[in-house]
Amino acid sequence: MIYENKFPESTLKTLDSFFADGRTPHAILIDGGSEKDRIELALLAARMLVCENKDRVPCGECEHCRKASENIHPDIIRITKPDDKKLFVKADVKKMVAEAYLTPNEANVKVYVISEMQLMNEESQNLLLKILEEPPSYTAFILTSVTSNAVIGTVLSRVIRLRLGEIVQAECSEKARDVIKKLSQAVITPYEYDRIEATAPLDGNKALTVEVLNVFCDVLRDSIALKNGGKALYKEFFEESRIMSERLSLKKLLDMYNYVDELIKSLENNPNYTLLCTVLCAGI
Ligand SMILES: [Zn+2]
Repeated sequence: MIYENKFPESTLKTLDSFFADGRTPHAILIDGGSEKDRIELALLAARMLVCENKDRVPCGECEHCRKASENIHPDIIRITKPDDKKLFVKADVKKMVAEAYLTPNEANVKVYVISEMQLMNEESQNLLLKILEEPPSYTAFILTSVTSNAVIGTVLSRVIRLRLGEIVQAECSEKARDVIKKLSQAVITPYEYDRIEATAPLDGNKALTVEVLNVFCDVLRDSIALKNGGKALYKEFFEESRIMSERLSLKKLLDMYNYVDELIKSLENNPNYTLLCTVLCAGI
């Protein structure tokens, strides 16, 4: 891995884990840290996306890497608020969404780096959400924000998050915390009954289900990062992430992550849908 920057190895490994198994992330949110670091890391992720090397990205050698490092790659598009405005302009966001449907110029993917989401109002974020919900296969979006709190929940559910800096405690209720811990234990045992028991409190309780699935998805992401030699971001669930990363294969972790991620989306898209614990248990 060749990176000419100052990011800690653990941050880079977490970023690498998004590309594990030849996957291509379609939407990433980088939050925390300084603005300079966030944008630098976003541009690095953009380079990784356009690089055509099959074994390691960015290779630093291909034409895409060269153009990206000189900031002249036509498929890496930076979207910022205008200098003379306090916030993003709605018309600019609208234009970006329309243009995102056009195919890339040179790379296999067209990457939009949207910096500092705390400067985008809810109306514009909702415009962005439209394309995040059904992005063309050849687009990717990298967002940066001071904090994830500045990003609307529906957008948050579409991105994988890379936080600069550790999170001591998750933003969730005691009850959710309890289910997440039990669930993390249950997925490493071969007994279906353990999983059913751990997820039982979720039956008929949509609010708790959403809370648990969102944090559990992050905990799974942490175990994937640990498996790849990266760092877990949730200090509170470190033991859970560590045990899952030691006891489960990378494939199993990625499958569970994708399954939980899909469940979160289906819960959001169907307001009346109640997730049954048997559905959850089927994929974990
Ligand atoms: Zn390359």
